[in-house]
Amino acid sequence: MLYYAEPVARLIGELSKLPGIGPKTAQRLAFYILNNDSGEALELARSIVDAKEKIRYCSVCSNLTDIDPCHTCRDESRNKAVICVVEEPRDIVAIERTKDYKGLYHVLQGAISPMEGIGPEQIRIKELLSRLHDNLVKEIIVATNPNIEGEATAMYLARLIKPLGVKVTRIAHGLPVGGDLEYADEVTLSKAFEGRREL
Ligand SMILES: [Zn+2]
Repeated sequence: MLYYAEPVARLIGELSKLPGIGPKTAQRLAFYILNNDSGEALELARSIVDAKEKIRYCSVCSNLTDIDPCHTCRDESRNKAVICVVEEPRDIVAIERTKDYKGLYHVLQGAISPMEGIGPEQIRIKELLSRLHDNLVKEIIVATNPNIEGEATAMYLARLIKPLGVKVTRIAHGLPVGGDLEYADEVTLSKAFEGRREL
């Protein structure tokens, strides 16, 4: 890093903080950006600033959005009796790709993980419960990842929500155990929804 002019070293440093970007890739990206015409680099910089400034969490479902409530929560054509619970906003993108699911969503912003000291109060469970008060919701589909944390979260939610008279289902495991929802293909994910079982 010492061989680079300070602004270049800083750019490489910032890029290498991104997930999946090692020092070599960061270097390659930095030189790509520097060698390109300045319009493209400025557009990249502006799009990052713009996204950071305009995107926030939906006050209803906690998904990332540019308007509050988000487009999905406002959509009158969606089935308000069903809420699909996911860990991260990117999981919604994966489920929407299947084009099968027409209900609402709730993003937990994580999963319960005693190993990492993440308890129920650290994720957005309280916000989910507050959405059940008007008795409109008849089913909660728990679509957390099929790993230990995802399963623990599903069991916790079932224990909490079933006594309220709301059906709690878990998507089926055509999904690879230990895998990530976002990497599942559309067909597998679609089948997982069809084969969901009551918790
Ligand atoms: Zn929303």
